[in-house]
Amino acid sequence: MTNNTNNNSLLPFDDRDGFIWFDGRIIRWREATIHVITHGLHYGSAVFEGERAYNGKIFKSYEHTERFICSAALIDMPFPYSADEILVAKESVLKANGFTDCYIRPLAWRGSEQMGIGARLTKTHVMIAAWQWPSYFSAELRETGISLITSKWRKPSPDTAPITSKASGLYIINTMSKHAAEDAGFHDALMLDYRGYAVEATGANLFMVKDGVVITPKPDCFLNGITRLTIIDLCAQNNIQVVEDHISVDALRAADEVFLTGTAAEVNAVGRIDDTHYKVGPITRLLREQYEVLVRR
Ligand code: PMP
Repeated sequence: MTNNTNNNSLLPFDDRDGFIWFDGRIIRWREATIHVITHGLHYGSAVFEGERAYNGKIFKSYEHTERFICSAALIDMPFPYSADEILVAKESVLKANGFTDCYIRPLAWRGSEQMGIGARLTKTHVMIAAWQWPSYFSAELRETGISLITSKWRKPSPDTAPITSKASGLYIINTMSKHAAEDAGFHDALMLDYRGYAVEATGANLFMVKDGVVITPKPDCFLNGITRLTIIDLCAQNNIQVVEDHISVDALRAADEVFLTGTAAEVNAVGRIDDTHYKVGPITRLLREQYEVLVRR
């Protein structure tokens, strides 16, 4: 068996072993292939999810399933399964692979029946894979926080793209931004929206702390992350005030603490944005610890 443990290893994803749920049944990892003439590949007509299981339980499995199905509807793509069927399918992937702690990646895409802009004759295919992916950012960065550089690409307005869909095609600007950040020696990019407000990183939501108040952008043009909503709940439980508001670049520069949230990234402190440095502060530490306990409950 090939070791299927580290997402960042050089082992290509098509050269691994394991089991994938593919159009309704569990098949061998290596047999989960599609043809090069596939609509999803040519036109980006695909939606996906990113989830994590801890101690054998998928965190917020229902919420991710709901978002998955909504993402397909938002890009006008029929979705052939019920939420219950997807919930059961995810459990079967964990069981087939013998995983208790892993990352789970559902994907739905338009198939090969039709090639062109119009795609009504295509079938929607669905697959669910899982692999072990310990931490998005390395453990040493817990004490220093990660670094972000502002991307030259901006998040589109809600009348330009289906911004609440976790649609594959929308990730092109995130990948370009992530590459530019890494080339400049930073860990990730800070994305501004079409108005110039700071909104998120390339795969995680943004929070800042100022004078004990947690401030996070209004989710009016980006993914309202499931981790983001979990953190807002945790703040309420700790009597920490949360304000959802536009965050200007200047306000972010003056923040006491900055952190990111996401399923893959979990809660990550930010130590630097462009030339501004931040300490990993007490509210970030508290929420990070509580999130780590909550997901394993
Ligand atoms: N924004 C983007 C662009 C993302 O890719 C993600 C990860 N899905 C998030 C935010 C955080 O969402 P969640 O907490 O639901 O994982």
